Amino acid sequence: MTYCLQCSHKLQLKIPDDDNRKRLVCPSCSYIHYENPKIIVGVLPYYNNKILLCQRSIDPGYGLWTIPSGFMECNESVEEGAKREAFEEVGITCSDLNLFVIYSIPSISQVYMLFTSELGSDQFAVGPETLSAQFFLFNDLPWDDIAFSSVTFSLKNFIANFPLTDSKVFIN
Ligand SMILES: [Zn+2]
Repeated sequence: MTYCLQCSHKLQLKIPDDDNRKRLVCPSCSYIHYENPKIIVGVLPYYNNKILLCQRSIDPGYGLWTIPSGFMECNESVEEGAKREAFEEVGITCSDLNLFVIYSIPSISQVYMLFTSELGSDQFAVGPETLSAQFFLFNDLPWDDIAFSSVTFSLKNFIANFPLTDSKVFIN
């Protein structure tokens, strides 16, 4: 960001008074632009010892496999965001969500909050950000073609600890 959101003056990178980090500050109106980590919410959907994965139709990770997930929107809870992403990306309605992974990536200021959800059927419908979707047996996952380290971490912990108890949360 280069210009002030409030008055369009050029911003300066400096440490504001009573702060200890550099921020983008407006020298004209004193607006301070705070940047904080982004939260990504998602669901690991499973049914009858199979996991539903989506093949991404967008970058990053075009053509690679992931679980339905995406940036949390304002004014929604993490559960609502995860359910929304699951419906948008692969057309599934998740009723019971259990938080099972919190995965931080400080280098890019992202935090993943991922839930498991046992599906009531094997029906799904591919959305616009998905090339295809498929149920994979636990021992037949496409490990070499997983889109994100958070997803690999989630899948490994899910399989190693299946069936999970509601209270078990894995943190990287
Ligand atoms: Zn300003």
